[in-house]
Amino acid sequence: MTDPKAHLDPVHGVPVPARLTVLSGPSAVGKSTVLRTIRRDRPEIWLSVSVTTRLPRPGEKHGREYYFVTEREFDEMVAAGQFLEWARFAGNCYGTPRGPVAARLRTGGPSLLEIDVAGARQVRATVPSALLVFLAPPSWAELVRRLTGRGTEPPEEIERRLVVARAELAAETEFDITLVNTSIDEVCSQLVALMTAQPVSPALGGPAGQVSAGQLTAAR
Ligand code: 5GP
Repeated sequence: MTDPKAHLDPVHGVPVPARLTVLSGPSAVGKSTVLRTIRRDRPEIWLSVSVTTRLPRPGEKHGREYYFVTEREFDEMVAAGQFLEWARFAGNCYGTPRGPVAARLRTGGPSLLEIDVAGARQVRATVPSALLVFLAPPSWAELVRRLTGRGTEPPEEIERRLVVARAELAAETEFDITLVNTSIDEVCSQLVALMTAQPVSPALGGPAGQVSAGQLTAAR
């Protein structure tokens, strides 16, 4: 784990909670398994539900894993400025609805976005105090094994995702912290610990990682 310097209390140098946390990393690294585990075991962690134009996989439910929409509906949401960030990934569009994130931040609770690297860059630009967490595979061979072994994509889609994954791995240095996915349970506890650390008193310099909902209102 690298040192999250941008998220240290300026007076005491101790980590402060990041109210908005972004989990990113290459396709098939295990992000959605992490999310599924957190959804099941840690209901206090709020998970943003993204909008996508891709078709649902077996077992996925509209409004739980994603809001599944048509290209046209997605374009309308883009035009209306409804996304905090959005990106095209392997032929489909994915976006984070701005409204629910802003509403959640107003309550001050820990919030998690699971998005691709391009989306993480946009959040970094819009919400500089967000904590960006990179989920890395134990090795490239393991990532290939997971992507080919999960059986949810046809061969040409796997090829496409592997090309994107190479580029995404190279982006690791742009993130605040790397968690290596050797064990889902361990990654989940590390992530939750990062998100729920005790707040530092504002009198001591304020929680550097805290995001104000106002930061989300600016259009991209
Ligand atoms: P999948 O199709 O495997 O569910 O997701 C493909 C990629 O899209 C993953 O890397 C996932 O993190 C990313 N993704 C999911 N939701 C969003 C989103 O709202 N915005 C962006 N930029 N990427 C997303």
